[in-house]
Amino acid sequence: MSEVFWINKLNIKPKKNLGQNFLIDTNISRKITKLVQGQLADPIIEIGPGTGSLTNELLKDNYRIKAVEIDKELVNLLIERFGEVPNIEVIHEDAMDYDYKQLSGPWWIMVGNLPYNIGTRLLVKLITEVPQIHRYVVMLQDEVAERMVAMPNTKQYGSLSVLASLFTNTKIQFNVSKNCFEPKPKILSTVVTIQRETLVDEELRLKAFEISKIAFQQKRKKIKSALSEYIDEDMAEKLSLNLDLRPQELTPEDYLAIAESIQ
Ligand code: SAM
Repeated sequence: MSEVFWINKLNIKPKKNLGQNFLIDTNISRKITKLVQGQLADPIIEIGPGTGSLTNELLKDNYRIKAVEIDKELVNLLIERFGEVPNIEVIHEDAMDYDYKQLSGPWWIMVGNLPYNIGTRLLVKLITEVPQIHRYVVMLQDEVAERMVAMPNTKQYGSLSVLASLFTNTKIQFNVSKNCFEPKPKILSTVVTIQRETLVDEELRLKAFEISKIAFQQKRKKIKSALSEYIDEDMAEKLSLNLDLRPQELTPEDYLAIAESIQ
């Protein structure tokens, strides 16, 4: 049955405030799930399964899935669609509130065509708080994807870029045309893969991310004032950092060096 069949079955208008733009192009769903590259029966946490376009492809590959969906009507539809399938657990919950500590074991993969309203916040939360998730295959607004991979001294560079660089290997894979969705979204979507390694100095990297957030709150100022709480002339000299630089001119490694020296 086509994806449109399941959307029509829903019999209610997709909810804009929940970012409900459903993927109707099965070739794209396949192209996304091929990026998962897990082993047979690897556990997957899918966020916002909607009517199940990605879920259906993941199940064909025999992954075990926990699918977290906030909308009760969609949860009922997913149970109708996949109720007989043993590999899936549909969870009716807000993905921002789900207790990710329940994900036992060292290896989880997160998949999702993420709702625009929570995409960035959710990724920041999972990357910083849930090391069990080692790989992400997610569709995001193209603007968020660009910010994740942005280099210093570019318009898109900010604390999200610092976080992605210090914790992950993030790659832009491909853009998805608006025509692949029902209803059509206003913005362009991009699929990214995020590899999140286990790191020995996570606390330090978290601190560096926090410092970058503070710096980018005053991004037009020089770091001598934007980061006055953290860095003085002595430290700047030791780190060979010019205090007249602005937050977007510091590399992720510079933020890490500042975090290290205030320990
Ligand atoms: N995965 C489906 C697809 O690709 O067709 C649906 C993607 S749609 C862009 C986003 C989905 O996330 C919707 O099903 C929406 O109800 C759900 N959603 C929105 N906010 C959520 C939240 N806070 N927690 C869990 N699911 C949420």
